[in-house]
Amino acid sequence: AVVGIVMWRQPPQHQEWKGAGTTAHFYEIILGRCYTYTQIVRPELGHKDCQKIGKAFTNAFLSKDPCGSTEQDYEPLMELTNQTVPCDKTLLWSKTNELVHEYAWVQRELFTLENTLLGYMADGLRWCGDPGSPEMNYQSCPDRRTDCSNNSVSVFWNTVSKRFAEDACGVVHVLLNGSVHNTFDERSTFARVEVFNLHPEKVHTLQAWVMQDIRNISSDSCSDASIKNLKLILSKRNITFTCENNYRPIRFLQCVKYPEHSSCRSKI
Ligand code: NAD
Repeated sequence: AVVGIVMWRQPPQHQEWKGAGTTAHFYEIILGRCYTYTQIVRPELGHKDCQKIGKAFTNAFLSKDPCGSTEQDYEPLMELTNQTVPCDKTLLWSKTNELVHEYAWVQRELFTLENTLLGYMADGLRWCGDPGSPEMNYQSCPDRRTDCSNNSVSVFWNTVSKRFAEDACGVVHVLLNGSVHNTFDERSTFARVEVFNLHPEKVHTLQAWVMQDIRNISSDSCSDASIKNLKLILSKRNITFTCENNYRPIRFLQCVKYPEHSSCRSKI
């Protein structure tokens, strides 16, 4: 008789977190987005090695504690994805996710973080690993409020947002939302990371465009208390601040969606 030892392969036992798990097909998505970006969106980056970039991305978080993520974990990925954004073309945003990308789609020379390779690859995705397994955790990932703030996704966005701001030069633009309570929100990535990593030797001005919901236009958002706070922070950092309410080119985009609204009806 043949005496065999049967080894049962246990399904991976992952820790349970409060947040949703890794996006299904994460690896295939980032790899596909890397090729789309470097071959089609910006063929001048066609020399980038997407296989290597994909591996560096997953190596940053696989087999690691998803609540102990660090900037250093993402360092190899950052080195492989460096990219130059021309001066005057950096566009930051906070609480205007849809509108800012509509505008960047039309004004092709402007770059939001999501119009750079790494932001393009990761936008809208979730990911985390587990110290006890070489695989991604598709069941759950840390929620940044209830589990931990230094989770693999938050540390990634803090790290790439920091580099994006450090690399900016000339006039930097920011699209803010004048229809939310804190137009300049001190807890946002824009406030915590980007404002403090603009280099005053390279960035002379931050120009804010503060857009209000077209269905709900109120008074001057640039004189809002939170905007005064932003102005003060920048003056201490030797960066000039300018602010414009309801910037007309972006208002026109809002009018595409609500063409019958009174503020859209006047003949141009
Ligand atoms: P925001 O509050 O509108 O947040 C934008 C998006 O990023 C939201 O989906 C939010 O859930 C997510 N986000 C923000 N901080 C996060 C964190 N610490 N961990 C995980 N997700 C986070 O605006 P914001 O916080 O000022 O971020 C926008 C600015 O920062 C932009 O200028 C951009 O360059 C950069 N950024 C982009 C993303 C992104 O998802 N594409 C995420 C963070 C930061």
